[in-house]
Amino acid sequence: MIRIVSGGQTGVDRAALDAAVSRGAPVGGWCPLGRLAEDGVIPPSYPLRETPTAAYPERTRWNVRDSDATLVLACGEPAGGTALTVETADRLGRPFLVLDLLDRRNTAVTLALLWARELNIGILNVAGPRESASPGAYGLARAFMESFLDGLKKGAEPAPPGRAGPAPRFMVDRMLVRLGKYLRVMGYDAEWDAGAATGELVDRANRENRIFLTRNRRLADQHGIPDSAVLFETGNPVEQVAQLLQKMRLDPGARLFSRCIRCNVALRNIADKTLIRDRVHPAVYLRHSTFYTCPSCGTVFWKGSHVANTLRKLSPALDRA
Ligand SMILES: [Zn+2]
Repeated sequence: MIRIVSGGQTGVDRAALDAAVSRGAPVGGWCPLGRLAEDGVIPPSYPLRETPTAAYPERTRWNVRDSDATLVLACGEPAGGTALTVETADRLGRPFLVLDLLDRRNTAVTLALLWARELNIGILNVAGPRESASPGAYGLARAFMESFLDGLKKGAEPAPPGRAGPAPRFMVDRMLVRLGKYLRVMGYDAEWDAGAATGELVDRANRENRIFLTRNRRLADQHGIPDSAVLFETGNPVEQVAQLLQKMRLDPGARLFSRCIRCNVALRNIADKTLIRDRVHPAVYLRHSTFYTCPSCGTVFWKGSHVANTLRKLSPALDRA
């Protein structure tokens, strides 16, 4: 089970620890000497260890360093200690993900689950604003972390019977290209063709045994929901992803990030990393042991960068969608 660590400050830090305890997950982390927090001394119920000094930046650095990854739950643009956490993780080359708790679209939990599963995180450092800087941060972060931990637990359960067998393949209509990209991120074969007429896409979906994804109700009715087409009411791609996974009872699991998003082709594991020595930055070459390549475009990927880059690339696109 995932272990949650934080600095024990008011707000997001304590929300993460309390949520973990409520879900039976182990907790810990570094706090400043004297168990310093803005409301005085951190209550003894939080099993934190003290750093040698009372400086907040030291415990920030140690929590980033001693965890597998850092989840930053910001309220708006990260500021103060929250911004320092982001800088620290970046400087130490540790994986991190920044999410905005004020984003009302309720998509952040889905992103965090994709990220945590891909990185196979054992120890997760959670950081964010203190309660005085962002009143209400505790409540938002607590609800977020409880959904997140419930989602992780659900994902760890074996797939329900009857869903085994080959993964479904998809054809998306021109209004759902963002969803198509997300499906590729999750390792599913998804095709689209912005230049083709809708009738051609439907024909091709039938021919290639693909499930047709559309926002066009009339078309979906003709095509026979729920067998070979899925209709989406929402225009938000991450909500579409969540609905599709739920509707089809899909669990991408090990499939995540196994496909080239540009080419829709399964990535190949590179058995001998010396083969790609000249094709990546020397620091990346030294730091990572597992690399993948796309047999179609030849791009080299490595675990960690691939997920971070993909999420970084997709998130702004989603915000504009
Ligand atoms: Zn490719």
